Amino acid sequence: MAELIYKNPDIYKIPVTLPNNPLKILNSYVIRTPDENLVIDTGFNQPECLEALTAGLKELCIDMDHTTLFLTHLHSDHVGLTNDIITDKTRVLMSDVDYNYLKNEHDGAFWPWMEEKFYHEGLSRDLIELQRKVNPARAFAPKYLFRAETVSDHECFSIGGHILECLWTPGHTPGHMCLYLKKEKILFSGDHILFDITPNITMWRGIDDSLGNYLESLRKIQSLDIHLTLPGHRGNDMDVYERIQQIQQHHDRRIRQTLSIIQKNPGLNACQIGAQMTWSMRGKNWDEFPIQQKWFAIGETISHLDYLIERGEIVRHTDKEIFYYNALVNEI
Ligand SMILES: [Zn+2]
Repeated sequence: MAELIYKNPDIYKIPVTLPNNPLKILNSYVIRTPDENLVIDTGFNQPECLEALTAGLKELCIDMDHTTLFLTHLHSDHVGLTNDIITDKTRVLMSDVDYNYLKNEHDGAFWPWMEEKFYHEGLSRDLIELQRKVNPARAFAPKYLFRAETVSDHECFSIGGHILECLWTPGHTPGHMCLYLKKEKILFSGDHILFDITPNITMWRGIDDSLGNYLESLRKIQSLDIHLTLPGHRGNDMDVYERIQQIQQHHDRRIRQTLSIIQKNPGLNACQIGAQMTWSMRGKNWDEFPIQQKWFAIGETISHLDYLIERGEIVRHTDKEIFYYNALVNEI
């Protein structure tokens, strides 16, 4: 069921259930005006998501011939249903950076690189194999690459006379974008800022410092005047500036924890470091993590290692098949 959350322009939220996924809900937002509409993000390429999204669009009488679809980033829970809902006349907008990554994914170059990287960072071949079968990012991706018009940072477009600005916020993905309704000061934050879950920051091919980029993107949003923030998942029950501070503090703690683990245990690989970090996986220890959660956790660990490498705190040794880490200063 679509829920009206703002009047003039009329903004609706269609909650798209993500079956068996800890994220639970993808928020697809709709701006409806008399002449044209905007839809933001879609849900996974899964029947349950398709049902929820199309029911919401039908309820709101959205004609996709007169609609722009904006995709905040390349993750399958945001772009999965693009092919299923667009018509020949739908305008699809996405950041140039993420669209290029999606192209690589469809060319087959992306996942083999990721798997090789995770192997060098200490994940066993067996677990990599297992991940291949269950990773929802792979299982529920669009079956083929859709066409899109690419947009870059600060580009603006209008929906029924309302101006929206694309804000490049790299970190969660290299080309992640928030959308900012300028006059109304409403931010569609995608997965850049979530309220009751911390956005996952992982490493990406060709990016040296995802976490550093993410923290800079948080500062970019911090400097905006925002009256309402609409996140890509679940609710938004907190002031956005307070939430940004919380996320900054979370990563600060994580960065210090990562460094301290390496200082105390020189020569560990990324998986071994990740196993010693604190994760909010209620009651479960590292060995009990489901493989897809472990995959996220290792990616997150690597992004913190990259951050420390960039700032000269640690070094990654790549002289053996499995990479290992040492601190440059070993005593705190
Ligand atoms: Zn998401």
